[in-house]
Amino acid sequence: MTGHEPAGTTASEALFARAHAVTPGGVNSPVRAFNAVGGTPRFIESARGALLTDVDGNEYVDLVCSWGPMLLGHAHPEVQAAVSEAVARGTSYGTPTRPEVELAEEIVARTPVDMVRFVSSGTEATMSAIRLARGFTGRELVVKFAGCYHGHVDALLAAAGSGLATFAVPGTPGVPAASTAATLVLPYNDRAAVEAAFAEHGDAIACVITEASPGNMGVVPPEPGFNAFLAETCTRHGALFVSDEVMTGFRVSRRGQWGLDGAVEGWKPDLVTFGKVMGGGFPAAAFGGRADVMGMLSPEGPVYQAGTLSGNPVATTAGLATLRLATDDVYAHLDKAADRLVAEVGSALTEAGVPHLVQRGGTMFSVFLHDEPTAAVRDFDGAAAQNLDRFKAFFHAMLDQGVYLPPSAFEAWFLSAAHDDAALDRVVAALPAAARAAAAVPAVSAAPRGDS
Ligand code: PMP
Repeated sequence: MTGHEPAGTTASEALFARAHAVTPGGVNSPVRAFNAVGGTPRFIESARGALLTDVDGNEYVDLVCSWGPMLLGHAHPEVQAAVSEAVARGTSYGTPTRPEVELAEEIVARTPVDMVRFVSSGTEATMSAIRLARGFTGRELVVKFAGCYHGHVDALLAAAGSGLATFAVPGTPGVPAASTAATLVLPYNDRAAVEAAFAEHGDAIACVITEASPGNMGVVPPEPGFNAFLAETCTRHGALFVSDEVMTGFRVSRRGQWGLDGAVEGWKPDLVTFGKVMGGGFPAAAFGGRADVMGMLSPEGPVYQAGTLSGNPVATTAGLATLRLATDDVYAHLDKAADRLVAEVGSALTEAGVPHLVQRGGTMFSVFLHDEPTAAVRDFDGAAAQNLDRFKAFFHAMLDQGVYLPPSAFEAWFLSAAHDDAALDRVVAALPAAARAAAAVPAVSAAPRGDS
């Protein structure tokens, strides 16, 4: 594509062309297509530790980590060994197994949930949690926040209607208006909007669902007390508080975002969704919560939910091995690595004269390139007002120097236990040239959000 890579991108280009013929857009999840940044997506051949190697032989320091799951780094030897041993015993039986009990016990021990049910993707987890909240409360309305992504659940692929506390419209063709008609989309971090929605519809709201600390509009953490306020408001109105920790769970701390706020402040969500890290790089996710709510699930209760590969023994073995290795030391390492990169990204951009804001949520962070200096991004409108062309230039300059950033300005950057000084040094060395590439792009008026 650019000719800057030491080994070129011929093999990735050829695979992308073949993929286009048999798969829409050439990818199995949209953001992988590089539509937001342009250029050829890299087809990865293998990964180890903090490094990815593509099919042309280029090596990259990976700051995506499979969009969060690879907390320990790629191909961790102990996780690999546990998985190989599990595979040797067969890969799926459609029966209950030991590793799913042990993984459930590990999750219950770390988080506020009393019980947990496994599924295969974060989307399934949030979809099931909402069904359960509706079944438990006998109510239908769901409140979500603009910019929070919860997977491709019909009711949650909703764009805000006109005005606060009005019902949502589908965010994509193919979602019936009826599916989002029971969804209210509110601005994130906006207590007044939440109060207004409950004042008007309080006795019809089944649940509020929110990312525990949003990472899908870039990193936009909850303002202090916001999650506690949501939990308290839901309780007061007989609604359930669903905290989506698919991204943050077992990543921003050993107990997820709840470890940073609820555990300290003394409140619990009613339901929590998990995914990513708890699957150790395999398709596994979960939802869990209060025993009385979870007791409504089939076969104990009337709310139906099921899955052929739910709790798959290989996936739950990988998740269990990962969580057992995710010690306090790992989180301390991630925090320190994030401290270093946050500081270095900031100084490289300052040096190049690029207005920017680096926001942090636990071990996750992201960079906003607004044309004007901005004090804080607290909601989706704030996140959307970025200079996306500057991000593109920054992204490609990093990629050309062997650093794989998320290919969108609206995503968190992820680190792993394998990001040692040598890996971080390579990222830091690439920053000045990338900052200069961003500086060379003129200021423009805000562009709309790219594909993700
Ligand atoms: N919730 C959150 C907070 C997520 O970040 C994601 C995925 N990025 C999902 C749900 C959906 O998970 P999956 O892609 O496994 O369906």
